[in-house]
Amino acid sequence: MNIHHDTTLGFIAQFSTDFNGDLNAVKTAGFRTTGPPQWFWYTSKLVALNKLRENKPVSGLTISEEAYTAYMRLSEIEARNAEARKLFAPIKEKQAKAKKERKKQELKDRTYTTIVIPEKPGQDYDHIGAEDLPPIPPRENAYVPPPPPTTVCFMCLQPTYFYELADLCLWCEKTT
Ligand SMILES: [Zn+2]
Repeated sequence: MNIHHDTTLGFIAQFSTDFNGDLNAVKTAGFRTTGPPQWFWYTSKLVALNKLRENKPVSGLTISEEAYTAYMRLSEIEARNAEARKLFAPIKEKQAKAKKERKKQELKDRTYTTIVIPEKPGQDYDHIGAEDLPPIPPRENAYVPPPPPTTVCFMCLQPTYFYELADLCLWCEKTT
């Protein structure tokens, strides 16, 4: 297989007589095809070219001088980009973290601290509906159930509650 270079498609694979072997190799490397009628297999990506280098077709791999120059240029650019990405990574991480914190704070402010009632300008008979309001924190139930009674009515032996006499239930009190 030979690789040559073209300004529109990038790197194009020229197959040898071992069609199937070459086809498998470019497919594995991640080349794309123009489809019919020409069925050029091409790539503009360094990754695909390097994969093809690592997994050379059985027919062998040659590269035209022009394609080699383009490949070297691409390698340099990629190396520079990788260097820039490495330098930028901590900054990016910091920014992402700050953004996350900000979002979290915003949500907290909106939900728990301030309820902003939005205006509906330009509407004469506007009214605010539930859909205009931010969610509010869930209501907390302040009711604490009293402990179950421990006292018992001496007549019916049912438990007596705080609004009854300790040893005589209301029923027995009123009916006897
Ligand atoms: Zn009773």
